[in-house]
Amino acid sequence: MNGHFAAVGNGPSAQQYEHGIQVIDEDKSFNTHLNEYMIETRVAEAGFNYHLISVFGSQSTGKSTLLNALFGTEFSVMSESERRQTTKGIWMSKNKKEGANSGGSKMAENILVMDVEGTDGRERGEDQDFERKSALFALATSEVLIVNIWEHQVGLYQGANMGLLKTVFEVNLQIFLKDRQSQTRSLLFFVIRDHIGTTPLSNLRNTLVQDLTKIWSSISKPQGLENSKIDDYFDFAFAALPHKILQPEKFITEVERLGTRFTAGHRSTKDQEFVGGVFLPEYHRRIPADGLSIYAEGVWDQIVNNKDLDLPTQQELLAQFRCDEILREVLVPFDTVIAPLEEQQAEATRSGKTSVLPDLGITGAAAREKCVKAFETQASRYHKGVYTVKRTELETKIDARLKALYQGQLSAAHKAGVMAFSDAVTHSVKAGQKAGGSYEFAEIVEKQKRKTLDIFKKEAQSLSIPGVAWSNFKPQYRLFETELNEVSARLRKEEMRRLAIRVERWVKSRLGDAIGLEFNKLGSGRGGTGAPETGEKPPTEKDLWDRVWNAFIGIVKDAETRFADRAKSFDATPDEVQIGLWRLRRKSWVALRERIDEEVMESNILMKLRENFEDKFRYDEEGVPRIWRPTDDIEGIYTRARESTLGLIPLLSRFRLMETYAPPDLPGFVGVQPTGAEAEDEEDLAPIGGVDEEEGKSLEEEMTVLSESKRQDLVVRFKKMADGVYVEAKRSAIGGITQ
Ligand code: GDP
Ligand code: MG
Repeated sequence: MNGHFAAVGNGPSAQQYEHGIQVIDEDKSFNTHLNEYMIETRVAEAGFNYHLISVFGSQSTGKSTLLNALFGTEFSVMSESERRQTTKGIWMSKNKKEGANSGGSKMAENILVMDVEGTDGRERGEDQDFERKSALFALATSEVLIVNIWEHQVGLYQGANMGLLKTVFEVNLQIFLKDRQSQTRSLLFFVIRDHIGTTPLSNLRNTLVQDLTKIWSSISKPQGLENSKIDDYFDFAFAALPHKILQPEKFITEVERLGTRFTAGHRSTKDQEFVGGVFLPEYHRRIPADGLSIYAEGVWDQIVNNKDLDLPTQQELLAQFRCDEILREVLVPFDTVIAPLEEQQAEATRSGKTSVLPDLGITGAAAREKCVKAFETQASRYHKGVYTVKRTELETKIDARLKALYQGQLSAAHKAGVMAFSDAVTHSVKAGQKAGGSYEFAEIVEKQKRKTLDIFKKEAQSLSIPGVAWSNFKPQYRLFETELNEVSARLRKEEMRRLAIRVERWVKSRLGDAIGLEFNKLGSGRGGTGAPETGEKPPTEKDLWDRVWNAFIGIVKDAETRFADRAKSFDATPDEVQIGLWRLRRKSWVALRERIDEEVMESNILMKLRENFEDKFRYDEEGVPRIWRPTDDIEGIYTRARESTLGLIPLLSRFRLMETYAPPDLPGFVGVQPTGAEAEDEEDLAPIGGVDEEEGKSLEEEMTVLSESKRQDLVVRFKKMADGVYVEAKRSAIGGITQ
């Protein structure tokens, strides 16, 4: 605060204030540099630890001389030879004997002394006006009023001094009229000059008290204060000094003794007598030193403009002004810390990055604490009501900024957390897949979730300021947790899809083998006979579809078990598992249908029919190849074999079970669509006839393996092929004879 002036040192400003500062000049204008002087003398930083004294008395009664001797000040003194009035106005100077040790007791710190000049010449009305104004000013600000008086004036009730005292009392009542709550009192300290010593001080004192009481009773008191007594407002103290010129040495020792009285004092609790020095706490005007200049200026402004002096209002105005000033001051270092962080966050938002600022909680809380504490230290000395309001204003201001910053921080932590979680899970799954697919999805998710939640929680907790409601970020934590759960569900769904694809692939591969095997059996035409030595029921062509259906059901059941076990291991919900199984059954059916279509592709099925036919035609019941002789009933064998194989075509055309001669219960097998099992995209779930009724395809159609036209086409081609075989057999029989 005083850095600027300290740097200047004994430069021009120090020089300028050698004689103190003229607070009010001869034109009654207030010196706006007063605060500079306060700073220069380091009183400004003293809070309430300062004292203000004013001196009153007729002109040329040695007031300035007294102050200079007492406090080492350098107020100008009328020269002995010239004897003309010194400049009017009010001067102030800091006690320069502060460090001096007189008589074992040090003077109080930071005593400011006001020398009120020109309070004389009562014949001139103009002077009386200034006297009144300066008395008001001194009373409004000073703890102690020194009344300087010649011994020979004591008891001269009509004297100039008594007029002055009358003025003091009147203006005091004027002040208290506006400030009835005030507990403030003042000390009138009578210093009797040129005390010869023949009349003891106690006698002089009695005379003065009598006169003061008389004056008090003579003044007109405002309404409401008619019965007030002089002791309600004033305490009195007395001192006598010898003649400075006639007894110079004694004068010096007495002044020194007087100096020791300017220390802190209090009233004894026993008898209310003064103990210690003249500075009783109740005299202090409670204006913080750094606000004194503004307060004094406001007070003087009211006085000089002849307004009713309203000290409480002045104090409130001062508090408002100073609290605003302090508020601005304490915001500067706060801003220095917070603004770059706000900028960093804004920059990240602009560029679409998520930036979690390191140690934001610590930095923010420290900046907040420092700011509020600094405000409290300085501003709490002012009017309590104003201070409280301004403190709230400050807190609202800084909290609004911190809150925005913290919320930005948490939303960044939220985004970063969700990303990190998703990445970590995906990464662990990939690593697990690389390592052979043995990983526990649920465990991975749980571990990463705990880790991510923990990081977020630490961040949220680090931003929390004890006792500050807005800094409780539990709701944000809950929100983050909810989102992680949603992301987990999504990741699990993806994992389910990967599992489904794996299981579907497995089903396809199994179906490929199993269905191929069943259709290959068509190639051997000895259905109904088989190999009796094994005892097994020989495969018949008629139960082809039963075998296909059973193989299919067996494979799908296996697949369902695999799927359900794995899905449960990563904490899929029962509903999710049900949906997965339903989808699996459908996809498996589609896979079966495709596999069957592959088997009945023209080239494939024609070959199987040929094999079936040739087996029946070219081999006898024992499986021995026939050597055709002309006597053989080639035609008969041919016709039977052909008809038998042709009989397969209607069988192959429709997926029908042997016993019921009806399609298998595909709708029953697939089951009812579980809720929430919607197709993920258009190509995801192909409609299945009889299952998805609304698709307009019946179960009968779904089970049609060969269309009517294909069937006829197949019959024609097969017959042609069989005919060829027959002709060849016939030829070989005839050939055998010619051979
Ligand atoms: P002020 O106008 O009240 O401030 O008085 P000054 O301090 O300027 O002094 C006025 C005159 O009184 C000067 O000529 C001083 O020398 C003289 N003076 C100062 N102290 C004393 C004192 O104790 N006794 C007497 N008789 N004269 C004094
Ligand atoms: Mg003077």
